[in-house]
Amino acid sequence: MAEPLLEIKNVTKIFGGGLLSTSKPVVALDGYSLDVYDQPARITTIAGESGSGKTTLVNLILGYLPPSEGEIRYKGINLHEMDRNQRLMYRREVQAVFQDPYEVYNPFYRVQHIFDMVVRNFKLGTNKKESRERIEEALNVVGLRGEEILEKYPHQLSGGQRQRVMVARAYMLKPRLIVADEPVSAVDASLRAMILDIMMKLRDEHHISFLYITHDLSTAYQIGDEMYVLFQGVTAEKGDTAQIIENPKHPYVQELVNSIPAPDPEIKWETDIHLPSEEEMRMKYARGCRFFPRCPYGMDICKQKQPGMFTVGPQHEAACYLYQKQQEEQPK
Ligand code: SF4
Repeated sequence: MAEPLLEIKNVTKIFGGGLLSTSKPVVALDGYSLDVYDQPARITTIAGESGSGKTTLVNLILGYLPPSEGEIRYKGINLHEMDRNQRLMYRREVQAVFQDPYEVYNPFYRVQHIFDMVVRNFKLGTNKKESRERIEEALNVVGLRGEEILEKYPHQLSGGQRQRVMVARAYMLKPRLIVADEPVSAVDASLRAMILDIMMKLRDEHHISFLYITHDLSTAYQIGDEMYVLFQGVTAEKGDTAQIIENPKHPYVQELVNSIPAPDPEIKWETDIHLPSEEEMRMKYARGCRFFPRCPYGMDICKQKQPGMFTVGPQHEAACYLYQKQQEEQPK
């Protein structure tokens, strides 16, 4: 198998609790691992409710935060040991699209300025004509035309146009990976479908991989290849997206999937599941499975140590002791 494009290896991120701090540490990610492959290009989904550690993960991948332990490698190079040229390559090849694109716009500049900055910073195009062609090409990929939007200010664009401009900006750099952090949660159903279609087109026709971060299982089901379900900073289940949603194994994931009436892309993942308080999370961090307080199958062993990943099917794993015996009995 080819090497992963992006590897997250046993990453732990702890906030607070330093020598001078009076607050207890909060563990946002705990020994977290993830591989993103890009040959062929793939959409890898990280699914989780708010408080599961998704935002921390995005910030670590984009280099905004250092891990407390573990490492993140891109093309085999540790992000925090990259030299200047490697960092430039990373900034170019790994792009991000966020939930609320309005926040990334400077309201005083026209849309043209966003693209001019990319052209200048990454030295795209040797003359004005060539630069303009690259901008037009990127806009066409997301179904926009320069004459429609380049002279406008951000507030004059619709939510869908703003989101598509951000995707076009990312596409201009011909990235290998786009980290898409809840890119469709702030738009209505028709725009959601359009943006998901653009993501699939970029994967299939332009060979760009995605790390799709979402709280919405139905859109993950619609477009995702692999999926990692996050629960309180650890992976509860990982594997092929359709397999997980059609045949979930981890009790937490079963609870989530059962809260969706039927796999339907139009139905959002709404659950009545509430995360425990921060205090409970801290207590549970000490040891044991984080899902124990809510799990109908809890056993003594579950209280002792967070389970590792056990194989539950072809390329399908769950962090649950219910499957330990099954894995041990499998022929080696
Ligand atoms: Fe439930 Fe134990 Fe599995 Fe955790 S490890 S989900 S407590 S059965």
